[in-house]
Amino acid sequence: MIQKSNAGIATDRDMSLNLLAEGVVKCRECPLYKKGKACPGVGTSSATVMIVGQAPGIDESKLGQPFVGQAGQFLSECLASVGIPDSMVWYTNVVKHFPGRDGAGDACPPYAIEACKHWLEEEYALVQPRLIVAMGAIAMHHLGVKGGIQQNAGFITQTEKWGPVLPSLHPAYLMRPNGMRFTPQFLTQLNSINTFLAGGVEVPPYEVA
Ligand code: URA
Repeated sequence: MIQKSNAGIATDRDMSLNLLAEGVVKCRECPLYKKGKACPGVGTSSATVMIVGQAPGIDESKLGQPFVGQAGQFLSECLASVGIPDSMVWYTNVVKHFPGRDGAGDACPPYAIEACKHWLEEEYALVQPRLIVAMGAIAMHHLGVKGGIQQNAGFITQTEKWGPVLPSLHPAYLMRPNGMRFTPQFLTQLNSINTFLAGGVEVPPYEVA
């Protein structure tokens, strides 16, 4: 997967992200690689906003790309509708392989989160987004925001390692029966990206607990 810079010309950053993606595709650090294609991060290498989900779903694992299923398409449409086009975004996940359905939902096993964490750290260091949006509780906790998703969604927290993080509901949550009723809330949460980028959010500095 060739990453694209804003100018459409491959930069050093694009090339480093491509090498990283090759590493993700070859990764055998946990057994999840057996469950489908790896889904390295994708998007604009100089993105202002990094979207971090939990893990690819089954559709993503067939195509080898994050956020390409129903929830991902809905997310991209919602972002565009609040004025954040894909050209401003890098899409990725905490875990790069589909965790599978084992009767306990699609929760990511802790061993996969542990094995995968260096990929996200390297991606973050390369893309250098101004803001991370954590989709759902697992991504939010991984990025160092404590508490429940409902209480944090829409509010930006300064984190120790990842800069400012904006948690939001997960778009897959809105794909559930009756989930679409949360769309206005979801759009308000995404719109906090604009308020932040316009300098309209006072984010208190990180505090050691
Ligand atoms: N859900 C996620 O968290 N990530 C994806 O890539 C797709 C669905």
